[in-house]
Amino acid sequence: MHEFRYKGNELYCEGVKISRIAKRFDTPLYIYSRKTLIDHYRKIKKAFSAIRPLICFSVKANSNLAVLKVLANQSAGMDVVSGGELYRALKVGVAPQRIVYAGVGKREQEIALAIKAGILLFNAESFAELGLIERAAGRLRKKVDVSLRINPDVEIHTHRFITTGRMINKFGLDIRTAEEIFLRSRIFSHLNLVGVHIHIGSQITEGRPFVLAIKKALHLIKRLKSKGVQLKYFNIGGGLGIVYRNERPQTADEFAQAVLPLLKETKLKIILEPGRFIAGNSGILLTKVVYVKKTPKKNFAIVDAGMNDLIRPALYGAYHEILPVVRAKDKAERKVRYDVVGPICESGDFLAQGRDMPIVQAGDLLAVMSSGAYGFVMSSNYNSRPRVAEVLIDKNKVSLVRKRESYRDLIRAEVIPKGL
Ligand SMILES: *Cc1c(COP(=O)(O)O)cnc(C)c1O
Repeated sequence: MHEFRYKGNELYCEGVKISRIAKRFDTPLYIYSRKTLIDHYRKIKKAFSAIRPLICFSVKANSNLAVLKVLANQSAGMDVVSGGELYRALKVGVAPQRIVYAGVGKREQEIALAIKAGILLFNAESFAELGLIERAAGRLRKKVDVSLRINPDVEIHTHRFITTGRMINKFGLDIRTAEEIFLRSRIFSHLNLVGVHIHIGSQITEGRPFVLAIKKALHLIKRLKSKGVQLKYFNIGGGLGIVYRNERPQTADEFAQAVLPLLKETKLKIILEPGRFIAGNSGILLTKVVYVKKTPKKNFAIVDAGMNDLIRPALYGAYHEILPVVRAKDKAERKVRYDVVGPICESGDFLAQGRDMPIVQAGDLLAVMSSGAYGFVMSSNYNSRPRVAEVLIDKNKVSLVRKRESYRDLIRAEVIPKGL
């Protein structure tokens, strides 16, 4: 559940009218609820309290410093996938020993930065990467902890762009290769291979693939143990699905019930990396209708937010609920079928297609729900559109947590060579 609700006919975030926020900060605008972020973090924490795991928020889902700070204050760790995300996590004061670093393409400078910072461990995804970490650690005269990300090859019912645990995906090591590396780990004098990592995809609504993947990892862990390799960590990744439309995802408690018995048996320190589960329903994208355009085939609601602000519908065909910020008084009002589209010069630029909604007019405010994860972080300046502002709501308090970019910001890093 989340803190975006109607009171009367007005949509609120926590204690604040969204129409009021729009007046003050203009649109398009991302709005986050502090309480929802915390509630979701605590749901996972409580569900897994029996084993006190390290819960590392997946920074790539929403990397705004204020969002990270809210979670860091709850003593969340962070899961990073780049030097930039590591920089953000450290900036908000997350203890390095609560930071884990995954990703298939870590560069040497990024690895060196993470070693110097003293992160808990790397989740390594290839043999070649281990070589690079070994070299960087050697140069810094450090011995670093590394988990191997294995690819458990399980099938998941989610969009093909967000499965990561099939053998056709670029992620992780196949189990046999991983096992060989563990057994030959002495060749790395600067690495301790201390754990197994899995992350099988995103927006997974059922427990089964998690259980299957965990069981495969457990087999590996057991075989390693029998051959004298004792590990410290088992990282089960993120991927928990949320409600965008009519999904019925497992709750945190159901998820924990399904996997806790398996995890307990390992006696290893468990790491979780939820991203979407914490941030997804904690944010909305607020947009305004600029024009309504009726063609012989369709009704277009042309809004001021585009695919550069929220790319999920264009990229994954993702569904986002779209709600009027001010509801019509007559609830029985007739619905009209709209394509809700942005101003970008691409036919893929839509937020919804064929959506039955109460009639809209130019100037109406719309809330694109469940946009707190993989929303702003995936935004771009395409069509030279300044990136939008972000605000954080805490009860009745509204804080600007990222300024709207200006035209000057758009060209800040560009240079016209002399004599051109
Ligand atoms: C993206 C990612 C996550 C978070 O995924 P969600 O579906 O947002 O929970 C966790 N771990 C790794 C390694 C990731 O790349």
